Amino acid sequence: MKIVKNIADFNRLRPQLTAPLGFVPTMGYLHEGHLVLVRRAREENPSVAVSIFVNPTQFGPKEDFAQYPRDPERDLALLEKEGTDIVFMPSAEEIYPPGFDSWVEVGKITEKLEGAARPGHFRGVATVVAKLFNIVRPDKAYFGQKDAQQLVVIQKMTADLDMGIEVVAVPTVREPDGLAMSSRNTYLNTEERKQAVVLYQALTLAQKLYGEGERDAKAILKQMTALIGQQPLAEIEYISIADAETLDELDELKPPALVSMAVRFGKTRLIDNLVVG
Ligand code: AMP
Repeated sequence: MKIVKNIADFNRLRPQLTAPLGFVPTMGYLHEGHLVLVRRAREENPSVAVSIFVNPTQFGPKEDFAQYPRDPERDLALLEKEGTDIVFMPSAEEIYPPGFDSWVEVGKITEKLEGAARPGHFRGVATVVAKLFNIVRPDKAYFGQKDAQQLVVIQKMTADLDMGIEVVAVPTVREPDGLAMSSRNTYLNTEERKQAVVLYQALTLAQKLYGEGERDAKAILKQMTALIGQQPLAEIEYISIADAETLDELDELKPPALVSMAVRFGKTRLIDNLVVG
C-alpha cells in the first residue's frame, strides 16, 4: 500500500493503477461504515484509492473541525488490511494553497436540510470532492447513504459538470442497536450513547407507520418527534420527510421519500436517515 501526502507524488504513481480505479473519500478515524465502502470498491475494481482529509472548508466557524477525531496510524493499518492500493492524505496547505479561491456551488438542493442547518457546508464538500476527483481521477467513487444529502449533491455535481465518474451509493452500516456508525459517535458519553439509539427507532417508526398505510407526513413527523422527546438528552435540530431526489418537503409521503434528521446530544450533533417506500 502506497501512502502519498502530496499531489505531485500521486501524479507520479497514478499511471501504475490498473483501470478501473475505485475511490473512497473519507475524513479518517475509520470505522466499519468506511470499511464497507472500501470493500465494495475492492470488489468492483482492480485498483482502490482512499483519501483521508479532514476538510476545513466544510466546517462552520463554530463547528468541531479542531476537535474532529484523528488517528492516521490506525486508519492506515485498517486500510492495509482491506487491500487498499493507495492512500492520499494531504495537508490542508496542499489542498488549499495560499491564494486558493475557486469554489463549486451546487444549487437548490444544498439549501435544504443539512445545508440550511450548516451554511456553506456543501460548498466545502463539493469543492473538496471536485478537487479530489481531479487529483485521483477515479472511474467510480463510493459514498455512504449515511450522508444522504451529500450523496445527492455529489451525484448532481458529477452529472451537471460531466465529470464522467460513476457515483456508487452504499447502505448505512449500523451498530447492533441500530445507531448509525459515525466518527462523531466517539464524542458521546455513556448516557448520550444509550439515548442516541432513538434516531434509528424514530426512523423505524416512520417505516412502520408507512407500512401500516399512513401517508400524512405531518402525522408521521409528530409521532417521531414524540418518540425522540422521550429521551431527555435529545434535542431535535430538524426532522424531515422529503422527496429523495429534489429534497423538497412532502405533505403526503410518496416513495422514495427521504426521512432524515439531525439531533443533538449535548455538544454532539448526529444525523441519520432512511429511504422509505
Ligand atoms: P466521513 O469520513 O464521515 O466523511 O465519511 C466518509 C464516507 O463514509 C462518506 O461517503 C460517508 O457517507 C461514509 N460513511 C460514514 N459512515 C457511514 C456508515 N455508518 N455507513 C455507511 N457509510 C458511511
